[in-house]
Amino acid sequence: MSKTIIIFFGPPGSGKGTQAEMLAKKTEWKKISTGDLFRAEIADRTKLGKLADKYLKVGKLVPDKVILTLVEQGLKQKTSGFIFDGFPRNRRQLNDLLTIFKKALKKNDRVYALEVAVSDKEVKQRLGQRRVCACGKVYHLVYNPPINQGVCDICGGKLFTRNDDKVKVIIYRLKIYRKVGEPILNYWQKFGKLIKINGEQPISKIHNDIMEKLKQLKHDYH
Ligand code: AMP
Repeated sequence: MSKTIIIFFGPPGSGKGTQAEMLAKKTEWKKISTGDLFRAEIADRTKLGKLADKYLKVGKLVPDKVILTLVEQGLKQKTSGFIFDGFPRNRRQLNDLLTIFKKALKKNDRVYALEVAVSDKEVKQRLGQRRVCACGKVYHLVYNPPINQGVCDICGGKLFTRNDDKVKVIIYRLKIYRKVGEPILNYWQKFGKLIKINGEQPISKIHNDIMEKLKQLKHDYH
């Protein structure tokens, strides 16, 4: 049986992880998320986890060599498809992945890149939805808004936008994505293997769009 491989691309905050997860549930294809793999290694306090933690904390990319072993292991699973989330992230990782594919894939297997497109403005706006109070309570204007706009439910304090490291880290990751991650898409586009999805829509609509596009590719994704 031939395999389908979908490689997700998108800036931090695009919701590609959520979409990759939804697609994996629906298709039963195996998801290979390098970020999740690292977070699991960090939680288990393995040697690799300790190394990766230094990079994840500041939003830097983990050295390429470390990732390849994880990806090769992941590709050994028995399944009719794979969903990549977070790999490849630069030109060298793309070349490595193509080498791995040459060894691991058969002639009829199909590989597509899927871009969840979201503008910098939207990413920043999504990040900007967080509001905090000096008492420590955290809100999200869309998912967890305060009862009265701009005022803390708990203490009545004035809510403010936190100018903390996390936002800075995500902005830094956004820059890296635009500079070294996004250009990889050209490779797939050249071969007509790029699926572009509008990521500035409700989660369920994005998922439906993805399923529609995959249907058009006439894949056995059920
Ligand atoms: P993600 O969950 O995909 O946003 O990844 C979280 C963090 O894990 C990134 O900021 C990197 O530090 C690290 N990471 C995940 N995938 C890769 C990769 N392919 N190459 C290098 N670092 C990665």
